[in-house]
Amino acid sequence: MSHVDLDALRARVDEINVEILQLINERTGVIQEIGKVKEKQGVNRYDPLRERHMLDHLKENNAGPLPQSTVEHIFKEIFKTALEIQVDDQKKALLVSRKRKPESTIVNINGELIGTGTPSFVFGPCSVESYTQVAEVAAAIQSKGLKLIRGGAYKPRTSPYDFQGLGLEGLKILKQISKEFGLSTVSEIVTPSHLDEALDYIDVVQIGARNMQNFELLKAVGSINKPVLLKRGMAATLDEFIHAAEYIMSQGNDQIILCERGIRTYERATRNTLDISAVPILKQETHLPVFVDVTHSTGRRDILLPAAKAAIAIGADGVMAEVHPDPAVALSDAAQQMNLQQFDEFYDSVQKFLKNHEIHA
Ligand code: PEP
Ligand code: MN
Repeated sequence: MSHVDLDALRARVDEINVEILQLINERTGVIQEIGKVKEKQGVNRYDPLRERHMLDHLKENNAGPLPQSTVEHIFKEIFKTALEIQVDDQKKALLVSRKRKPESTIVNINGELIGTGTPSFVFGPCSVESYTQVAEVAAAIQSKGLKLIRGGAYKPRTSPYDFQGLGLEGLKILKQISKEFGLSTVSEIVTPSHLDEALDYIDVVQIGARNMQNFELLKAVGSINKPVLLKRGMAATLDEFIHAAEYIMSQGNDQIILCERGIRTYERATRNTLDISAVPILKQETHLPVFVDVTHSTGRRDILLPAAKAAIAIGADGVMAEVHPDPAVALSDAAQQMNLQQFDEFYDSVQKFLKNHEIHA
């Protein structure tokens, strides 16, 4: 074969390559159109039966010399690329996605704005144990000019024999505290059946780590008109966390705060492993404010302060930490709550840190 022949054949191969590329791109465009129609109809985008029909049709029309197995292999790859593009489109389509809504969502808790660029703080006991116990913490929070208090009335405990929370009585205590101290309350609800009643007593519904994928609960808080603080499940990927928030927003409630609270790893030096990189990733991927719970992530009083500084430095919209008048006798999380003096020191140091870094709280 002469040089000229070889060059001509190569040039033809180049042309064919480009033609194939153009056709694959054209095909992808058509598939995207189909995706939009399916989205409107609420139909799943991946249809294995349709894929089987397409492969059979190709093999019937295969005049060779490609063997049938090669045809199947090549086209399965082509089908996969179109599907991958659609999954990407689907991600962009999530209501919580920053691609869908570039401006940050501001969560309004009775006038306390979350997600404006200056960090907020939620302090309070692990569990509501009595009026006086919560009132002591509320007074300390109020004296710092803060507006939010937390406290669990329904406690999801590992053992059924551990303190399960005061339930409705606990919510009533929170309501009283809120009125007397001018604070908004954050409290965990564990089942949709408690939700309606709870809304009369609390300002922010917390969904705990153990319930992050309790989809019925997520849908239920999606249709209330109060903010939701959604904690990351202890074994949840960020993608699963984002989709849990999507469950809430898909029902119409966009007042959602995401809360990184540590994930379970092999490391036992801390109660959980604080996944600090989750903060900027969640802020990039979604338009929702992101908090860091330094108590449940570290489980260690001695590193609450550096963990809080790290959270603020990396861009968290708020920090949550537990405070109890007498942690040694707390009915839950006795080992990790701050007492009132430690709370003062912690908050002073955080304030100094904010000032030094010109972050205005
Ligand atoms: C809590 O904040 O009271 C709590 C139980 O935390 P988590 O759901 O993150 O374990
Ligand atoms: Mn706790």
